[in-house]
Amino acid sequence: MLRTFDALVLRPTLLPDGGAVVSFLTELGERVTGLAKGAKKPSAKWVAAFEPLGSVRVTFFGKEQADLRRVTRCELAFSPITLGHLESSLVIACLADLFDRVAKEGMEDERLYRLLSACGRALKRDPDNALGILAYAEHWLLHCIGLLPHPRVCGRCGNEDAPLVLLDERGWACAACTPVDPSEALPKGTREHLKRLRSASGEAIPGIDPGDEAQAAVTALLRNRLMMELGGSPKSYEVLFRTL
Ligand SMILES: [Zn+2]
Repeated sequence: MLRTFDALVLRPTLLPDGGAVVSFLTELGERVTGLAKGAKKPSAKWVAAFEPLGSVRVTFFGKEQADLRRVTRCELAFSPITLGHLESSLVIACLADLFDRVAKEGMEDERLYRLLSACGRALKRDPDNALGILAYAEHWLLHCIGLLPHPRVCGRCGNEDAPLVLLDERGWACAACTPVDPSEALPKGTREHLKRLRSASGEAIPGIDPGDEAQAAVTALLRNRLMMELGGSPKSYEVLFRTL
C-alpha cells in the first residue's frame, strides 16, 4: 500500500549499505519512519531531501502496521537552512531531536506539525533569532504535551495580577499565596513574558533580549522541565550550548 504525505524530516540515520532510516513528522502530526534504500548513492536530489526539518512530499510503501515502511519517493519542497549560519544549523538539529522524541508512531497531533513548520519558516526568514525560535518551540511543545498551565491565573489561588514566583506540579504559584525567598522567586515580568510567548504568532517570534531577566528565567525553567520530561537533553543540545 502506498501513502503520500506532506511531512517534515526529523532524523536520517545512515546505514552502512548506503541506505538510511529516516523519521518524519507527517502533516497529521504522527511520527513515521521509513527505510530509504541507497540514499547515499543515487542522485544528489534524493539525498538532499533528507535534511533535518526539510519540508518534503514523501511516499511510503508498506503495510499500515509495519514497523518499517519503504520510502519510495521524497521531494524537498522547502529547506529552513541558511548556508554558513552555524547557530541556525545547530538549532535545526535540536528541533529535529526534540520533535523526534515527542512525536509518536500511531498518535496524531497536528499541532506538532504546525508548530515545527512555523519554526522552520521562521528560521529561514530570521536565522539570527534561532535561539528565540528554539525557546518558542520548547514553550509550545510543553503546552502540547500538557505540562504548561496557562499563566493567566495562579494555579493555587486564582490570582490574575500578582507576580508568578514558581512553577511546580500544581501549576504556577503567585506571590499573593506563596511566600518564596526573593532570591529564588521567578523574576518580575515572568507572567508578561509567558503571555507574550502565548500570543506571538510564528511570524513574530520574540527575539532574545540579553537584558531581560524574566525571559532568561522562563527559557531556562521551561527548557529544564522539557528535558526532565524527555529524560535528559539530546546530544544536539550539548553541541549547541558548548558551541555558543
Ligand atoms: Zn496565588
